[in-house]
Amino acid sequence: MNDYEIVIGLETHIELNTKTKIFCACKASSWNEAPNTNICPVCAGLPGVLPVLNREVVFKGARLAAAMHAEINPRSVFDRKNYFYPDLPKGYQITQFYEPIGKGGYVDLELADGGTRHVRINRLHLEEDAGKTKLEAGMRLLDYNRCGVPLVEMVTEPDLRSADEAAQYLTQLRQLLRWIGVSEADMEKGHLRCDANVSVRLAGSEKLGTKTEIKNVNSIDSVRQAINIEAKRQIEALEAGKKIESFTLDWDADTGKLRKMRSKETEADYRYFGEPDLLPVILTEAEVQGILTALPEMPLARKARFVSEYRLSAYDADILTSERNLSDYFEETVKTYGGEAKTVSNWIMNDLMRLMNSQGKDASGLLLRPQDLAEIIKLVDAGKVNVATAKTLLEKVETSGKKAAEIVTSEGLGLVSDEGLLRQKIEEVLAEAPGEVAAFKAGKESLVGWFLGQVMRKMGGKADPKRSREILLELLK
Ligand SMILES: [Zn+2]
Repeated sequence: MNDYEIVIGLETHIELNTKTKIFCACKASSWNEAPNTNICPVCAGLPGVLPVLNREVVFKGARLAAAMHAEINPRSVFDRKNYFYPDLPKGYQITQFYEPIGKGGYVDLELADGGTRHVRINRLHLEEDAGKTKLEAGMRLLDYNRCGVPLVEMVTEPDLRSADEAAQYLTQLRQLLRWIGVSEADMEKGHLRCDANVSVRLAGSEKLGTKTEIKNVNSIDSVRQAINIEAKRQIEALEAGKKIESFTLDWDADTGKLRKMRSKETEADYRYFGEPDLLPVILTEAEVQGILTALPEMPLARKARFVSEYRLSAYDADILTSERNLSDYFEETVKTYGGEAKTVSNWIMNDLMRLMNSQGKDASGLLLRPQDLAEIIKLVDAGKVNVATAKTLLEKVETSGKKAAEIVTSEGLGLVSDEGLLRQKIEEVLAEAPGEVAAFKAGKESLVGWFLGQVMRKMGGKADPKRSREILLELLK
């Protein structure tokens, strides 16, 4: 068998998280709402109405273009893409064909083997979404709620070389979309949808093979599976001396199978022409500059900085930069705390993230602010509470909104470092265990831990361990 290379290009449709739809005042999000309750004459395509562009869509689209290192087009134009399908009541989709909002750009993928893959972006354009159809009880049902929801379609060059790389691209894209705040990027809700163009060629060949297009893939795992299945099919066909035909495949998530849909349309089939009801979209130089300067530090850059500036492992930095507000939380805590960043990292990755999960909140939604977490870690460092108590403090601050020190005082959670009391309890422990004392004095120094355990038991775990140890050693001399 010959050696083949898989070549993949991805087209993603990204739902922007604007308040309203792209050309009307209907809400952009109608997840879980009754069918056809979030529509108006504009998005339902009634005759005689005119679209009015939502500028927020333009700014978010341009922000995404900037984040992909694409060139923001100061003048982009909407076109009509004509086709007939029941989910498209107007009979055409308003999109950008000839002059899209963004051109070029790239994303660098961090691959599992430590390498990187440079994936070029061909273009990004703005468009409106279509409705949904579903088959139920032998009928085709239509829901127009999604008509007019703003989308960015982003197309890569065929630069991906495996199903895993395609999955990595989507994972990084999802992170980036949330990071820059332009989309919720929830694939289950269809905020991020992906079509994959797949072809294979003999390893070392420069010429692209004939591609097929996989549609309707709604999770990263499905993308990986579908590409692997299709690449295998193409390789087997070529090995059997057959030709690859260009067609569209539909991914069925329930069966995990690909189904041939139709021969692929060519662009001419859509009879694109300029949308006569909308003016060109103009972004002034100042607006473009504003978009560029407002971009936050990007996830990979921040991850690299966390490794160099805070001496964290790549693993820690990766988790802490998985969401922007989590990475902000980490940095603010480190600043207030002033001690080892690694200590803060451990608290966040073990305890804070558990708290976020149990509360169903992200880092920015917690009542427990970075200042509170820093205060709790300082209480541990100062020997005022033990680690177990500190862990419960996280939840107590979160649910009560009170300050940690206040809770320690009012609930008596602090460690006892009172000299007289500690000395008295330790003397009791020693008096009760003459055998162990003798063994210690005969050289069995490992018994220190056992004595400390006894002291802790007598004091309900609240003896200051450092001071207790000092007194213990002094009395055992
Ligand atoms: Zn509407």
